[in-house]
Amino acid sequence: MAIALHPAVDHGIKPAAEGFAGGSLVCKCASDPVEVVIKSQSAHNHMCGCTRCWKPAGAVFSVVAVVPRDSLSITRNAHKLAIVDAGATIQRHACKGCGVHMYGRIENTGHPFFGLDFVHTELSPQQGWAAPGFAAFCSSVIEAGFDPDRMGEVRGRIRELGLEPYDCLSPPLMDYIATKLAEASGKLRTMHVA
Ligand SMILES: [Zn+2]
Ligand SMILES: [Zn+2]
Repeated sequence: MAIALHPAVDHGIKPAAEGFAGGSLVCKCASDPVEVVIKSQSAHNHMCGCTRCWKPAGAVFSVVAVVPRDSLSITRNAHKLAIVDAGATIQRHACKGCGVHMYGRIENTGHPFFGLDFVHTELSPQQGWAAPGFAAFCSSVIEAGFDPDRMGEVRGRIRELGLEPYDCLSPPLMDYIATKLAEASGKLRTMHVA
C-alpha cells in the first residue's frame, strides 16, 4: 500500500478538462454551506506540506491552487466566513461551521502574489480543474508531526505520482517571486511585466 498523502492524488492525478472555465466551491457543512463561485480555470495547482493550508481530515498534504481574485465571489452564506489569522500574509477565509478554508487572499499590494486567491478545488462538485503539478514545502509536514524517518517514502510516492517534491515552491514560482522583488527594488527593470 502506497502511503496516503491526499485523497485528490492518492488514486492518481486527474487531468484538467480542455476549455474548463470555473465552477463553485462548497464547504462541508451539512446545512447552509458557504458557496464560492469562480469564473476562471485554476493555475499553479500543487500539493503543499505547510502547516497553514487547509487539509481534509487525515491528509498529510493540502492541495491548493490560485485563481484571479476578481474571478471569485461568495455566493451563499458569506456570514459564516471568518479570517483564520489576520496577521498572516495569506488571509485564509474559513467557514466557522466546518473549518474549511474557502479562499486565501493577499491584501498587501506589494506582494508578488497580490491579485491571486488561493483555493482548494477539491471542494468543487465540478470536474476539470487544473491538476496538481508539483509538491511544495515537503519538509514542513514534519512540523505538523509527521515522522521524519518516512520522508523518503513521502518523496518517493510524490515522484511516483509524476510530481517533483520541493522544500519551497517550484523553481518557476521562486523565480517569479524573485523577479517581482527585484523589479520592486529596482535591481531589474520591469521588462518582465507583460
Ligand atoms: Zn462550513
Ligand atoms: Zn501551504
